[in-house]
Amino acid sequence: MIDVDLALRERFGLDAFYPWQREAIDALLEGRRKVVVIAPTGGGKSLCYQLPAAVLEGTSIVVSPLIALMEDQVRALSQRGIPATYLASTLDPQERHRREQDIFRGHYRLVYVAPERLASDSLVEMFAGLRPPLVAVDEAHCISQWGHDFRPSYLRLGEVIARLKPSRVLACTATATPIVRREIQERLGLPPEDTAVFLRGFSRPNLHLAVAENDNSAHRRKLMLAALGNALGSPSSPMGGAIVYAATRRNTEKLADVIADAGWRTAAYHAGLPAQLREEVNRRFADRSLDVVVATNAFGMGIDRADIRTVVHVQAPGSVEAYYQEVGRAGRDGQPAHGLLLTSSGDFGLRRRLIGYGGGAGSETATDPEHIQQQWRLFLDLMRYVEAGSCRHDFILRYFGDEQETLGGCGHCDVCEKLEHEGENPEAMRVPEDDALVVLKALAGVARNQRRAGLGAVAEMLHGTDNERIRRLGLTELSTHGLLAAHPKPWLVVLLRRLLTAGLVDLTGNEFPVPFLTERGVATMKGDEPVRVLLPAPEVGRTRSTKKERRVDPVTRIRLSGVDEALFERLREKRLDLARAKGVPAYLVCHDRTLLEIAAHRPSTPEALSDIYGMGPARIESYGEPFLETVRASG
Ligand code: ADP
Ligand code: ZN
Repeated sequence: MIDVDLALRERFGLDAFYPWQREAIDALLEGRRKVVVIAPTGGGKSLCYQLPAAVLEGTSIVVSPLIALMEDQVRALSQRGIPATYLASTLDPQERHRREQDIFRGHYRLVYVAPERLASDSLVEMFAGLRPPLVAVDEAHCISQWGHDFRPSYLRLGEVIARLKPSRVLACTATATPIVRREIQERLGLPPEDTAVFLRGFSRPNLHLAVAENDNSAHRRKLMLAALGNALGSPSSPMGGAIVYAATRRNTEKLADVIADAGWRTAAYHAGLPAQLREEVNRRFADRSLDVVVATNAFGMGIDRADIRTVVHVQAPGSVEAYYQEVGRAGRDGQPAHGLLLTSSGDFGLRRRLIGYGGGAGSETATDPEHIQQQWRLFLDLMRYVEAGSCRHDFILRYFGDEQETLGGCGHCDVCEKLEHEGENPEAMRVPEDDALVVLKALAGVARNQRRAGLGAVAEMLHGTDNERIRRLGLTELSTHGLLAAHPKPWLVVLLRRLLTAGLVDLTGNEFPVPFLTERGVATMKGDEPVRVLLPAPEVGRTRSTKKERRVDPVTRIRLSGVDEALFERLREKRLDLARAKGVPAYLVCHDRTLLEIAAHRPSTPEALSDIYGMGPARIESYGEPFLETVRASG
């Protein structure tokens, strides 16, 4: 028996495993020996191969695409007395040869290797001769053509592993939706029936998530600056750092000027800048002589700063995975942090261009039509996040398949907050109108447009706008002009976007994308398929009303409906105890609305609890029993 706890302390200087690390390592060493680990970046995945490699006889092989990280890990391992090295194309041939000799002589416990090196048959032969006790594939999602970071050099890995015949295989990744996970397992030869899969740690309770859609770019800038101010305080004494992500290089530079004008120490960062300059931005951000970096998605690797208080996206990124990875750089220190995603209807056309012209994700991005189609689908998934009518955290957790950690409403994302404030105010909600008919009218508008104008102009046409441009496009002549005049233009833009994300409308792929009906869109318009689209909230796009809207505080409202006040107070005390014991703010335990509902419905079992607002599996596991106990005691 291998004493992994001892190895953890003595070899890695750590006190305890995260529970899932222990389970994954046990599975690898003594269990099924085929393991997939999915956990966020920085979540502690590398220990899952480093520790087994350190304690197993022989040379383990780690495939990784990130040379900078390999170098870093090799240095750290060597310092701990665990012999390790790496092979990558950046080494000069002499050095590589020397290392290969040493590897062949069995000098190392761990050998990191870049995937493209494994194209060499002789190297694979040499590794096979070592009879590796473990092969680990890091960033395993790169093997998936469905993922956002496909690398052709990964495709060979299944075959390579089959030739190496290692006793154990581990695949690690930070981003794997169920479909990507299936592809990883298929291609690496890790069949579901004898592979242990560990997926944990996607929950980021200290991160507040919000989305704002606005078609006015000046207004979006204002929101961006406000977000920086709220998160960092004043430029004279900033409380931490911030990242602003933009989709294009030009935009990063323009926005860096705007942010500098507001007094922040800032710099732009994108792949078009000389390496030296990029390194300098990295360094200055790390040593806190910069407060804000305005970057494309090229900025990320190797950000060494735990006190990032906000990540603002001024344009929609390419996928939920990319968004989660980027926004996840905020709040690594566990302190409260904010993620704000700003988006406009222009983002659809922009993304279309980025994908179509091959400037999308990694440098190995293929440009075949199927791949472009897939990128587009990933983007539409992100737009579903933008338009989500339920908790943002739960959306992401479900997207990654991390159901265990869903909360059933986190209480501190913008959607939860809205639900909290307006949730049970039906009279304020909806003009009585046949929702399906609105959708059908919008579809008719898209059809009549006959691919002449973009989304914004189609919205204006439906609204009945009569101006020079609309007239010139011939849109005033159409029978659909003014068909949805009761709705403001921004609301109609959001509606059209929902038709896009619902797959009823698509955009042409040229430089000026225009909407057209898909097959499903046509079928829906003809009534052959039912309408399954939620209309945007009525307040979307309405300028703030001058007469103050009547707002019934939900707490007051539920109280009026017969809550056991004494029980509510006792539940609040219990929440405070729980929060103190865990060292987290009370709202992370749960919010008032949850306690009010418990006090009103008096659930007696965990199942009954799961019907309460905000009570998902993770909360029930952590706090279910104490709350049930409180209810029982007040019986
Ligand atoms: P990943 O590979 O998932 O991106 P890493 O393996 O690089 O993440 O781990 C990130 C950090 O977490 C490292 O500094 C590592 O030392 C630390 N870490 C990993 N496991 C533990 C643990 N059980 N206890 C404390 N710190 C840990
Ligand atoms: Zn939420």
